[in-house]
Amino acid sequence: MAFTETYHCDVCGNPRGDAEDWWLALTEPAALIPEAPAQPMLKLTPWNILLSHAAKVRHLCGARCAQTLMDRWMRGE
Ligand SMILES: [Zn+2]
Repeated sequence: MAFTETYHCDVCGNPRGDAEDWWLALTEPAALIPEAPAQPMLKLTPWNILLSHAAKVRHLCGARCAQTLMDRWMRGE
């Protein structure tokens, strides 16, 4: 079944075009080493269509919106 879905940047609201290199962000507590407690962490990864469906992932249209997201996250927003 063919279907189209449109993603929107979670920061600026831009719709995503097919050729655009977007990014995905996840803010989740994580431990860098097994002995350490989990800490709040911001993860960025290049666009991946499978990951884009993940419940808690944020869709970002580029570096500027990634920075805005990081600013908000660091301020606890
Ligand atoms: Zn954006």
